Amino acid sequence: MQLDAKIPSGPLAEKWDKHRFELKLVNPANKRKYNIIVVGTGLAGASAAASLAELGYYIKNFCIQDSPRRAHSIAAQGGINAAKNYQNDGDSIRRLFYDTIKGGDFRSREANVYRLAQVSNNIIDHCVAQGIPFAREYGGLLANRSFGGAQVSRTFYARGQTGQQLLLGAYSSLMRQVAAGQVSMFPRREMLDIVVINGQARGIVVRNLITGEIESHAADAVVLSTGGYANVFYLSTNAMASNVSATFRAYKKGAFFANPCYTQIHPTCIPVHGTYQSKLTLMSESLRNDGRVWVPKTPGDKRPPNQIPESERDYYLEEKYPSFGNLVPRDVASRNAKSQCDMGKGVGETGFAVYLDFADAIKRDGKEVIQQKYGNLFQMYEKITAFDPYETPMMIYPASHYVMGGLWVDYNLMSNLNGLFVMGEANFSDHGANRLGASALMQGLADGYFVIPYTIGGYLAGTDRPEITTGHPAFTEATRYVTERTRKLLSINGKRTVDDIHRQLGHILWEYCGMSRNDDGLLKARIMIQELREEFWNNTVVPGSLEDFNQSLERAGRVADFLEFAELLVIDAYERKESCGGHFNEAYQTQEHEARRDDEDFCHVAAWEYKGDNTDPELHKEPLVFENVELTQRSYK
Ligand SMILES: Cc1cc2nc3c(=O)[nH]c(=O)nc-3n(C[C@H](O)[C@H](O)[C@H](O)COP(=O)(O)OP(=O)(O)OC[C@H]3O[C@@H](n4cnc5c(N)ncnc54)[C@H](O)[C@@H]3O)c2cc1C
Repeated sequence: MQLDAKIPSGPLAEKWDKHRFELKLVNPANKRKYNIIVVGTGLAGASAAASLAELGYYIKNFCIQDSPRRAHSIAAQGGINAAKNYQNDGDSIRRLFYDTIKGGDFRSREANVYRLAQVSNNIIDHCVAQGIPFAREYGGLLANRSFGGAQVSRTFYARGQTGQQLLLGAYSSLMRQVAAGQVSMFPRREMLDIVVINGQARGIVVRNLITGEIESHAADAVVLSTGGYANVFYLSTNAMASNVSATFRAYKKGAFFANPCYTQIHPTCIPVHGTYQSKLTLMSESLRNDGRVWVPKTPGDKRPPNQIPESERDYYLEEKYPSFGNLVPRDVASRNAKSQCDMGKGVGETGFAVYLDFADAIKRDGKEVIQQKYGNLFQMYEKITAFDPYETPMMIYPASHYVMGGLWVDYNLMSNLNGLFVMGEANFSDHGANRLGASALMQGLADGYFVIPYTIGGYLAGTDRPEITTGHPAFTEATRYVTERTRKLLSINGKRTVDDIHRQLGHILWEYCGMSRNDDGLLKARIMIQELREEFWNNTVVPGSLEDFNQSLERAGRVADFLEFAELLVIDAYERKESCGGHFNEAYQTQEHEARRDDEDFCHVAAWEYKGDNTDPELHKEPLVFENVELTQRSYK
């Protein structure tokens, strides 16, 4: 099957403008006739629901949490990129575009990334108008700081709470539309299936998480903004409820899953400290603006950091990558931290940590300045570890954090299923094989505020859709499937907890498909996942009942999907015989141990089609064509 990304023709910088002109419009009166389902209330979902409602569409908006404000986006810390060039340090739309393409190791679409860089500036204006309290310079201008993979300062931030402030802005706009009657809010609903009729997405089936009731909702189009699946690794920096279920169920209904093995391991997280830990905490990448990463030069040196003199410290990132230093991209920083620890130079009790040291910055700028920039992050670190980072270096280690894989979408953000749009972290677009810091918030808000309001109109105006109600047999069938699967979970009655199985799955993925991988390990992991899935369906225990608030049941459903999805992730990793970005196959590396791509054979998006349980999925390739940048070996030296 030929995947058509529907990339507009013409010069790169004019594609989006041209496309917007060519898209069909829905006139204002007709917009009121259309119902759109938006699943998710994170930055992507809330911004889309608010913007589409503002245009006049009638929106049903769903989320798992009790309030849209509790979406995982609220956790985002460090900032959001835009090519405003307020610093006059050489930034431009072209540079943001190039940094993002290069950061993603030349595995994303040029046209999408250029559009992202273009609308990044609109996002900042929009958010300032909403009243987002971005940090400002003394003179009142918006402040910027640097993030990995860039040599300019283009990251806008609100201390270490940027996601929270941006989400409050989107939420306010959303609530305005709820009050106006344009948006109906459905909190505490979990989407468990999508309804496809005549090849068009026409609705969803959800479980009411309070009453257990299975509900059906019909619409003219469905927009998924259900976030990422990093929790497949069990331990991750994501919110506990982050999951793959919505996108995976859509995959099972025919939507292609693209690049599932592209996951991001973030270099600066608080290290794992025990077997019963269920969550990891991110220390924002912004800290690498001022913090210096180091380990002792001598393996096995267990002296406290303040007793290790300068001459015996290895500032390995500054040494190895003098141009970018501590601000190399995440994949590079993570891999280097791992190799230092593998050499026995790791610090802390477990030896799986490196130092992030602020002593020089505090000496240079004073404690107060550092406190203003990172106060809440330092406080969070101290609360969790009981060490004061103003006095002693932080200890950090890489952890699963973000996913670049997701449902395949075209330039309009529509999946291969007509009428099914996918936004934010849930789609695969824009970041290629590695996402640069501060660009997930940019992408989520670009999708929701500035892309979908145009492209969904083009779809609605340009397609015929018969009248459909939830009485259609496709809804009955989806409801039956969801009910049966949920009942089955409750009936297993085995001995192991769902968390126990999930933890084991996480170990398998981290070991064989984490920061590095090889073919033997991937083959082994696939078998281990199949066996674990078998174990799950025969030997777990899910307490409680169907008709109740039952968080054990919710978790069981999500883990069941992770167990199926994990196999797809490993299949994809095995199929990609190259190393690119965060996806590092040991067999493909340069002499300096950097990722070695194979542009001849793998310069494509791998989009997988579901072919049935226990049958291998089918691979479809979307070739990536680069007309505006030259493919080079990524270097941050
Ligand atoms: C600790 C942390 C810090 C970060 N900091 C930054 C940063 O500084 N800058 C940056 O650019 N990025 C950052 N990121 C990444 C960024 O926060 C996320 O990629 C982004 O917020 C995802 O937004 P989203 O709208 O796509 O999804 P989410 O915010 O994850 O929202 C998902 C929504 O979908 C709903 N949902 C999910 N599944 C279902 C279902 N089955 N049924 C119904 N509803 C469902 C949820 O309830 C929720 O409302 C950070 C990530 C983490 C973990």
